[in-house]
Amino acid sequence: MNYYKDYEMVIGLEVHVELKTKTKIFCRCKTDFGAEPNTQCCPVCMGMPGTLPVLNGKVVDYAVKAGVALGCDIAPYSKQDRKNYFYPDLPKAYQISQFDLPLCEHGHVDIETENGPKRIGITRIHIEEDAGKLVHDASHGTMIDCNRCGVPLIEIVSEPDIRSAEEANAYLQKLRATIMYTGVSDCKMNEGSLRCDVNLSVRKLGEEKFGTRTEMKNINSFQFIGKAIEYEYKRQVDAIESGEKITQETRRFDADSGKTYTMRSKENANDYRYFPDPDLPAIEISKEKLAELTAEIPTLPDERKKMYTEKYGLTPYDAEMLTNDMYIADYFEKGATLTDYPKLLSNLLLSEIFRLRTDDSEIPITPENLASIAQMSGAQTINSSTGKKLIKEIWQTGADAVSYVRKNGLEQINDRELLSKLAAEEIAANPKSVVDYKNGKTAALKAIVGKVMSRTDGKGNPVIINEVVTELAEK
Ligand SMILES: [Zn+2]
Repeated sequence: MNYYKDYEMVIGLEVHVELKTKTKIFCRCKTDFGAEPNTQCCPVCMGMPGTLPVLNGKVVDYAVKAGVALGCDIAPYSKQDRKNYFYPDLPKAYQISQFDLPLCEHGHVDIETENGPKRIGITRIHIEEDAGKLVHDASHGTMIDCNRCGVPLIEIVSEPDIRSAEEANAYLQKLRATIMYTGVSDCKMNEGSLRCDVNLSVRKLGEEKFGTRTEMKNINSFQFIGKAIEYEYKRQVDAIESGEKITQETRRFDADSGKTYTMRSKENANDYRYFPDPDLPAIEISKEKLAELTAEIPTLPDERKKMYTEKYGLTPYDAEMLTNDMYIADYFEKGATLTDYPKLLSNLLLSEIFRLRTDDSEIPITPENLASIAQMSGAQTINSSTGKKLIKEIWQTGADAVSYVRKNGLEQINDRELLSKLAAEEIAANPKSVVDYKNGKTAALKAIVGKVMSRTDGKGNPVIINEVVTELAEK
């Protein structure tokens, strides 16, 4: 029995983002990724007794920028609190974070879903310090690397507005893009500079009351987040359907098995015994400072998206795909000014180029060159399949598209008489297809169209070929 359709998932995400400051949040140690263990730490970040933290002003500036970009209200007054817990990678046995007065509140992220646009609320963004890293080694046991202790983080807590793995993915993509545009973090999931905790509960459709939620910590890829959500949703629904109770707990997602496992029962806020850090003064942000930081934020994905739909006629979904990566957005804008067919350019980027580009590396085709392929396609100089082949070829060689087409005679064949003649020959050679077509099998002509196209070496005008084949078959 399929009882899953009677339930919905309720998801809130907590995203930790490492800020790209040169030094740590409370000391002058460097924050470079991948340095030799314990070469970037000092008594302050190692939590030695008697040391005093001094807040890095850049951390506040960066957090404010992220907050403004995500539509938050910025608190003119906020403070830092100690969150107490014993964990081996946290030498101080407490983390300096923010409890009741966070720096940013009430923001949002707008996403595209299959049912149209949707707004996901952001409850708060606060600043805090990262913990160290435990390194497990068969011969030496477990060791600690303190390089990451005190690396500045912002934690972005969403409202429980997310209802599917797809929405979670769209939210994270947009959040990541928005933060990257501001330049305060590189948001590299593979280096841990963006990490995501998923809070998930289920409830019967139409119910108001939230179910008991579980938390899945530190999932480090978009793909795994989707898998963890799907698995945990089914696990909770199965449990409820068989009369079990869901316990509030932290669970670990295992990428190999695709399952989640109990780690520990979830702490409540009062287990952390938060109190204001007595070593740090309050954070005050003046109106002037806020205006100054706001002025430094570049044009954000949502504004560019709006421009693409209005100026270039792209769908909101396509515009979102292009703007989610600033490099791609810049690339598209450069090319779009050079062709009369920006929508075709967008299609080539989202299909052919996205397929060929498997990582974050630069596209080996210049925007000018891709724009000229869009131009030739739009102006019917080449057909769309030649356009695709051309992209594959130029990806390897970097050749100029226009001269390549000329040199290799790839121009589209629009000669109706010639195409008609080829069509007549193919129809004569395939009488059965014509009979099938006349008996109502409209797809039967496709084979003939394909044969005519291959006799033009794929250069025929597909619209004209279709027309002449249909005309002749109907005679
Ligand atoms: Zn330090």
